[in-house]
Order: sequence, then structure tokens, then C-alpha cells
Amino acid sequence: MLYNQVQDLKGTIRVYCRVRPFLPGQLNGQSTVDYIGENGNIMIVNPFKQGRDARRVFAFNKVFGTSVTQEQIYADSQPLIRSVLDGFNVCIFAYGQTGSGKTYTMSGPDLTAEETWGVNYRALRDLFQMSKNRMDIIEYEVGVQMIEIYNEQVRDLLVNIRNNSQLNGLNVPDASLVPVTCTQDVLDLMRIGQGNRAVGATALNERSSRSHSVLTVHIQGKELVSGSILRGCLHLVDLAGSERVDKSEAVGERLKEAQHINRSLSALGDVISALAQKSTHIPYRNSKLTQVLQDSLGGHAKTLMFVHINPEANAIGETISSLKFAERVA
Ligand code: ADP
Ligand code: MG
Repeated sequence: MLYNQVQDLKGTIRVYCRVRPFLPGQLNGQSTVDYIGENGNIMIVNPFKQGRDARRVFAFNKVFGTSVTQEQIYADSQPLIRSVLDGFNVCIFAYGQTGSGKTYTMSGPDLTAEETWGVNYRALRDLFQMSKNRMDIIEYEVGVQMIEIYNEQVRDLLVNIRNNSQLNGLNVPDASLVPVTCTQDVLDLMRIGQGNRAVGATALNERSSRSHSVLTVHIQGKELVSGSILRGCLHLVDLAGSERVDKSEAVGERLKEAQHINRSLSALGDVISALAQKSTHIPYRNSKLTQVLQDSLGGHAKTLMFVHINPEANAIGETISSLKFAERVA
């Protein structure tokens, strides 16, 4: 393939890999990450194999090692996020097995400590700041939606909240769209949304690893002189855990959940790789997630996927399968 064609493809779909550190109290065994290159390469070593078969290199747009901070992760996502103010639709996905750091990247470990904030809060803080800076020329309105997709069903997480936004161009149908004016508004809503997520679930953690959560930020800008309107939206998606479930062990509800998750993650992979290959048929209809995001995947939209890996030896199977998934969409 020609060099500039490659560049062209890379323009709309980006894949970043993030390796989470060993956790405190966890046995610091040998990491399965052998080497991270400057140019987006990562070499994985399988501790259960010998010789040449044990090593494998994967290539992405960027690879972030265990010492990379939340701030650095955001810095590399920022140009994409800022383009929402210019009327682009942007999707950011966190992919990986349960425990690999998806929620850490998207939300962060501790809402009360700003320096640990993930992409979600940093993006909103930045968007509000930028829209203030342009206040003299463009008047922006911002609204958010929060849904979760569990067993191929959409649940509105902001269902009980006053829903009087004047914004048009809804991308998530039948979900409340709540107007916000500052980062604090969003923090409050996210707390409420998380609370709604827990209702009826056995344990929040359990549930959150089996459902996709989608935070959508809609922005509408009105140019004060010309009166022309610009719309963009940002979808921040914390995906369900990608781990394969042993079919011989899972039964009933657990098996059903696993099948729904497998199907929707592979449908997402199919859509993104069809877009990357500029295929004429994009199979949006195969899952709820791709249906909901249809207008923001493809066309002039921009996509970023973070693939997360856990460096522990016993995660090697899932690590390789996550990296293969991500390499297919890159
Ligand atoms: P997931 O959402 O993929 O299930 P989490 O984001 O909950 O995974 O991460 C699992 C654990 O690892 C949490 O305790 C989290 O705080 C920690 N963790 C994840 N990524 C990092 C990181 N980059 N640095 C430090 N701790 C991390
Ligand atoms: Mg999580």
C-alpha cells in the first residue's frame, strides 16, 4: 500500500495501547511486556512458550508503558477531543479484559483527586475552557447523555433528571439529554448515573464489567456574526470486559451475558475494520452498540481505541487476544 494511503487511514482511526502496572500487593512476577518501541511497537513474551514462538510484536499508533500518567494519556487524545468544537463527531473506546485499566483510563481511580482524573473529566474540563475562550465569536451549548448497554438493551442512566435541553441532533435516541454549563455539573451527573447503574445489579463491579457504558457530550455552537450552527459530539465508551468465558462453565444468565458481549465486541471490531478499509458496506446493524454509535462512526467522524493490557503472566492469553483484536482495527 502507498505511504500516503496509509497516512490517510490513520487519520480517522487511531489505536493506542496502554499497559497497566503491577498493582500493590500483587506478586511482581515477570512482565509479559518485553519491549516497547518508540514507534508504537510492543513486543510481548509468552512465559509459557520457548524460543522464537514465545515472542510477538504488535504495531499501533502509540504504546504507553506503566509509568505514563493520566495527564500524558490525555495530552495524546486532546487534538481529537478539541475537534468536537469544530463540528466533528468523535468516539473514544476503552477495550480490554476486566481489570486491565479501562475505567482507570476513562474515569480514573479517584474523582476527588483531579490529578488522577481520566479522559472523561479532562475532556469536559477542556471543552468548557475552550468554549469560554471562544465566547466572543461562538456561543456554545453543551448537553450530556449517559447510557449503559447490557444484554443488547439500552438503559438511560439519567432518566430521572430534568431533561430540557434545546440541543438537536440527538445521537442516542430515547435517552435523556441534560444541559450542563460547567465541569461540576458533569461530575454531579456522573455520580447520579453511576448510582443508577448499580440499581438492581448484584455488585457494581460485576455489572460494570458486563455492560458497555457510553457518556455522550453534545456540543452546539452558534457563530455570533453569521448565525450559522455547528454541531459535534463526543462519545466516551467504557466497554464490557473482553475476556472469553469458558463455555463449559458458564450457564444461564452468565452465558447469555457472555454471548451478548462477544457478539457486540466483534460487531464493533467488524465496523471499525470495515471503516479502516473503506469498505462500501459497514455492518452497523449487528449490535446495539454499533447502532447507537452509527452516526459517529465513519463519515467525517474520528475514532480512538485504547487497548488495555494487564502484564501478569496468567493474563497472557487475554493479552494476546486483545492485541490481535486491536491490531485488526488499527
Ligand atoms: P477495568 O475497568 O478494565 O476492569 P480498572 O480500571 O478497574 O480495570 O483497573 C483495575 C485496577 O487496576 C484498579 O485497581 C485500578 O485502579 C488499577 N489500575 C488500572 N490502570 C492503572 C494505571 N495505569 N496505573 C495504576 N493503577 C491502575
Ligand atoms: Mg471497569
